[in-house]
Amino acid sequence: MTTSTITEDETSVSPPTASMFAAPDPDVNQSTFERNETIEPILSFGLITDIHYADHDDRWNHVQTHLRRYRNSANLVDEACHYWLNGKYPISFVLQLGDLIDGVCSTNKTSGSDLNVILEQFKKTLNSLPVYHIWGNHELYNFTRQELLNGPLCSFDTKTSSPAHYGTFEVCPNLRIIALDTYEFSALGVGNDSEVYGQSMELLRKHNQNESPNDPTGLRGHQRRYVQFNGGITSKQINWLKEQLTEAKNRDEKVIVIGHIPIHPSACDHLDLLWNYKEVLDLLWIFDRTVLAYIAGHDHDGGYFRDRKNIHHLTLPAIVECDPNTNSFATVHVYKDCLLIEGVGRIATYKIDCQFFFYLIETMRLYNRVVLMHRKQIWQPWMSQGRSVLNYSMEHIPHVVLGIPFAVFFMVVIASKEIYKANAYQFNVYKRRLMIRRPEDIPTEYRPFCS
Ligand SMILES: [Zn+2]
Ligand SMILES: [Zn+2]
Repeated sequence: MTTSTITEDETSVSPPTASMFAAPDPDVNQSTFERNETIEPILSFGLITDIHYADHDDRWNHVQTHLRRYRNSANLVDEACHYWLNGKYPISFVLQLGDLIDGVCSTNKTSGSDLNVILEQFKKTLNSLPVYHIWGNHELYNFTRQELLNGPLCSFDTKTSSPAHYGTFEVCPNLRIIALDTYEFSALGVGNDSEVYGQSMELLRKHNQNESPNDPTGLRGHQRRYVQFNGGITSKQINWLKEQLTEAKNRDEKVIVIGHIPIHPSACDHLDLLWNYKEVLDLLWIFDRTVLAYIAGHDHDGGYFRDRKNIHHLTLPAIVECDPNTNSFATVHVYKDCLLIEGVGRIATYKIDCQFFFYLIETMRLYNRVVLMHRKQIWQPWMSQGRSVLNYSMEHIPHVVLGIPFAVFFMVVIASKEIYKANAYQFNVYKRRLMIRRPEDIPTEYRPFCS
């Protein structure tokens, strides 16, 4: 694929939550972080995305809204690594959410050397600390899937998923990361004669008849996602995700799902949505008490939305479009009963905590439904016959005598169950406490497969 056909994915003009990320100061949002700063987290890890490094002069993005400072990206990564290294709580690993180098490297024929420069930027400060990479569209502009699978950006065991690149690992007892390949079904990084290319182009052409498949002109709302710089997930990966979530649920684990492309329309510009976002979202909603968050990149302006199933959707703003003196990375601190995502620069700070009140409200709703049903189906028909409350009580003594204790018992059981589930948010540090502080402390099974 030639880069002349590439329309950039940074055409988001007015994301719904851009103002949340407008903090011009690179300092940590102290007001939110202070609350927990005296309590040591179980462990911490770094988040960074859309670095787009290239040894190339700065230039405007496709829609001329943001300047891409390609070389400055390396400085910002360096700054992030030093921040993580010297932070109060050292990190255990970094999640790099894709678009590590820019598509322009392919035009310049510097893909390999530019990739080495930016990887070295991580390595020189963090040494052997694991950096888990997931693939964005710009990885696929520079390399084929086979090249990526055999290169330093392959972070998971792909024996069964190849040529897709997805995987999972345990962060600490009761907390797991699941990394998705959001370009498994796409026309990028594969030969024009391949089956997946043909099927992807067929889907694109069905929804987007513009001359360039990267041009969203004429598309409205969610339909704008049908552009070539996006992709989707096949049923094979969906089934794998379902298996992983079922196992996690059975083990009482909580899960953070990561992918390059966002999956919730309220957490990004619709132009940057996964093709089959609804299918993935529906699956995550089945496991709403297991999945805590979905974290993505791709939309360079970022976004945030807490959905109706209480899953946090965080789209991180891009490094490459940071204004001077600003950065864009985050540190996730894992506490016993919450996650604190401490943003720097363009990223705000978020807390994902024990949802006791959420479950309590759910229980009250259920109770309310039972009461309403009783009133409508039993009480109102009875009263409409002109009988008194006393009369009702007398004729229903067995119900009252047996029903009230049963209702109380029922409510206690439900409440206990909900409180137990709420408590299950606590990441289990008692059974098997892992004090991961230095790279050498990380058990082999938690390290990337081949990074
Ligand atoms: Zn990007
Ligand atoms: Zn992207």
